Amino acid sequence: MSAVPLPASLYTDTACPAPLTPSLNADRTASVAIVGAGFAGLSTALHLAEMGVDVCVLEASEPGWGASGRNGGQVNPGLKFNPDELLARFGDDLGRRMIEMAWGAPDFTFDLIRRLGIDCDARQNGTLRAATNALTFKAVSATADQCAAHGMPTRLLDADETKVATGTGRYPAALYDPRGGDLHPLNYARGLTAAAEKAGAAVHGNSRVLSARKQSGKWFLRTEKATLTTDKLLVVTNAYADGLWPDLRKSLVPVYSSIVATEPLPEDLAARILPHRPVLYESGHITVYYRLDKQNRLLMGGRGPQRALGNQTGSLDYLKRYAEVLWPALKGIRWTHAWNGQLAITPDHLPHLHEPSEDALIYLGCNGRGVALATTMGKQLAERLAGGQSTRIDLPVTGIKPMRFHAFWSVGVHSAMLWGRMKDRLGI
Ligand SMILES: Cc1cc2nc3c(=O)[nH]c(=O)nc-3n(C[C@H](O)[C@H](O)[C@H](O)COP(=O)(O)OP(=O)(O)OC[C@H]3O[C@@H](n4cnc5c(N)ncnc54)[C@H](O)[C@@H]3O)c2cc1C
Repeated sequence: MSAVPLPASLYTDTACPAPLTPSLNADRTASVAIVGAGFAGLSTALHLAEMGVDVCVLEASEPGWGASGRNGGQVNPGLKFNPDELLARFGDDLGRRMIEMAWGAPDFTFDLIRRLGIDCDARQNGTLRAATNALTFKAVSATADQCAAHGMPTRLLDADETKVATGTGRYPAALYDPRGGDLHPLNYARGLTAAAEKAGAAVHGNSRVLSARKQSGKWFLRTEKATLTTDKLLVVTNAYADGLWPDLRKSLVPVYSSIVATEPLPEDLAARILPHRPVLYESGHITVYYRLDKQNRLLMGGRGPQRALGNQTGSLDYLKRYAEVLWPALKGIRWTHAWNGQLAITPDHLPHLHEPSEDALIYLGCNGRGVALATTMGKQLAERLAGGQSTRIDLPVTGIKPMRFHAFWSVGVHSAMLWGRMKDRLGI
């Protein structure tokens, strides 16, 4: 059974060649097995290999096939919750570490890319979190106050400053964080793969793990053609979790997000949209996110159909219309690409770290912020798998909680989208 190829996107059309990742054709052993080659799995593999640990990654398709090779390419700081909420909920020690880890994640990611010399159009030009109405203005202002109180290098832009920064008068304010930025996600995934392999990790594509069984203190991971035997196991399958681990898939909502992209914009038009090239995401019930890439293409992302897109790209016309509302001069520009993928939303909107046994870890649920978060967590997961303490990981360790009525997630997401769009329109 051969793997489903990576769906066509702007990224597949512009990516560097994929490193060789032959499928697992013969039984082998390693100290650590990683299931899933997205940013989480690849970053963990890289850091383990750099520590001299014998690590083997098994990926159902090719590295970057999941959300990691299809996302908006925004490298954003933070979690869904404001710093003070994290402190109140997780206490001074863990709360403070979560803040440092999550808001420091873009710096970690850009430093890693520089250190490894990965060619992925990485630019650290900042993130704008834009308010869209009076309610989100309050929320963005509150976040700005808290970030400032925690000594972060952020700044709240007023309506005029936001208009200059974005080229549209749509937003009453935006929180600017200079630590954010963007990159070409598929090139980043491929660069991480090559770096992990160079450091000594084995990465096998086209090797879906069909079962994970523990016997006599060892993990036996069976693929179609061979078995990998290891001492420790990390499962990082995120929204693409299948039935491999009991209840894992039911502990998250695998929401589809869609992106449309234009041809490279003429220089004079590109100079009027996000002139200093930060990335932007809107604060609202239905998040729209966008950026101009290094070749001046506009990438607009948001919610679309809750199924693989295929050729049904007409359902994303709303994103194109919305872009033309923001910048009417876009009319007549050609939209060349449309694609989608699944990200993992957790019920508490936090990333989840599970440790079902001393020798097994599961990490998932970056809730749409995985470019920086999954990269950063990779180092911490590697340290834990190499014998470090789980209490040193900057996330709480929790049990896997399957959601009730999980089978109806797409109906729930659809209703939430309609309700969210209505609320955004009414500004409530
Ligand atoms: C359209 C879209 C836009 C997004 N935009 C942004 C953004 O701009 N910024 C941001 O920070 N985040 C964004 N995200 C989220 C971000 O991409 C994810 O949080 C991140 O890539 C998750 O990485 P991961 O390694 O955890 O999972 P993934 O990249 O999803 O990787 C999981 C891998 O596991 C493999 N797998 C599953 N089951 C098995 C098995 N049994 N055996 C072997 N392999 C298996 C899959 O094939 C897959 O490759 C976006 C996501 C999407 C879909």
